[in-house]
Amino acid sequence: MINLRENLLSITNKLLAAGLNHGATGNCSCRDRDGFLITPTGVDSSKLTADMMVRMNLSDGSLMQESKYKPSSEWQFHRAILEKYSEINAVVHTHSVFASTLSVLGQDIPAFHYMIAVAGGSSIRCAPYAMFGTKELSDNILKAIKDRKACLLSNHGLVAMGEDLNEAFNIAEEVEHLSRLFVEAKRIGEPKLLSSKELTEVLNRFNSYSRWSKD
Ligand SMILES: [Zn+2]
Repeated sequence: MINLRENLLSITNKLLAAGLNHGATGNCSCRDRDGFLITPTGVDSSKLTADMMVRMNLSDGSLMQESKYKPSSEWQFHRAILEKYSEINAVVHTHSVFASTLSVLGQDIPAFHYMIAVAGGSSIRCAPYAMFGTKELSDNILKAIKDRKACLLSNHGLVAMGEDLNEAFNIAEEVEHLSRLFVEAKRIGEPKLLSSKELTEVLNRFNSYSRWSKD
């Protein structure tokens, strides 16, 4: 049987190793039957263990079992995403450097590179700013991820999701990479954008092939 707590721990470690998170920032969750598991708040990622993961009810975010650890302060948007999208089983949130850099501009990332389609559309939207841990932020994120698997959070970071933790990690890593490319391109000129026809071709291709078997 798959140990979801161990999976969650291993993705947290992978985010740390990939430089996508640091210290106690960022958080991850995955669906666990009628609830979900989420990383605890205030624990340095390098000190996390599988038993610290907090199990919550999907319907209202109440705790499903006693724990001396409190859930991530961002549990509201994790719960909202997992409740709204039954095909999504994992959510990853990071404060990675380049996505966070772009997020402070408060603008969507346009179709400047074909891999923008990994997030499911012709842009990666930037959710308007709201205080961390609030329902307002959760509501802003739900709007920004409509027909997408990732978005930026204004003045904050990024959120990515997937059918499993690996897919959510891969999308978060790709969004960070795209953010870096966009920042670098902006240093030397104005990026040329792909047309909607060109993007549609890529999206169709992604739908007919595994999205990670990229050329
Ligand atoms: Zn955050």
